[in-house]
Amino acid sequence: MGRAVAGGVSYVAGLVAQDVQDALLERYGRWPICPVCASGDPHALDVEPELGPDPHWVCGKQGVVVAPVGGLT
Ligand SMILES: [Zn+2]
Repeated sequence: MGRAVAGGVSYVAGLVAQDVQDALLERYGRWPICPVCASGDPHALDVEPELGPDPHWVCGKQGVVVAPVGGLT
């Protein structure tokens, strides 16, 4: 049963991550552009951890935390 539960959790987590992305799109429109790379190769910020209690916007290219989610206005 443990194997089945683990697979189920992984599956649900993926669905939740999609819901988080959809919610962010609805809330913010476009994902915020990375301010770290804005003058070079602009890209959207990522959220890490997507399902954690204290999510932050991060630059996935340079691996730096940009701001807490909700801290961008
Ligand atoms: Zn960046």
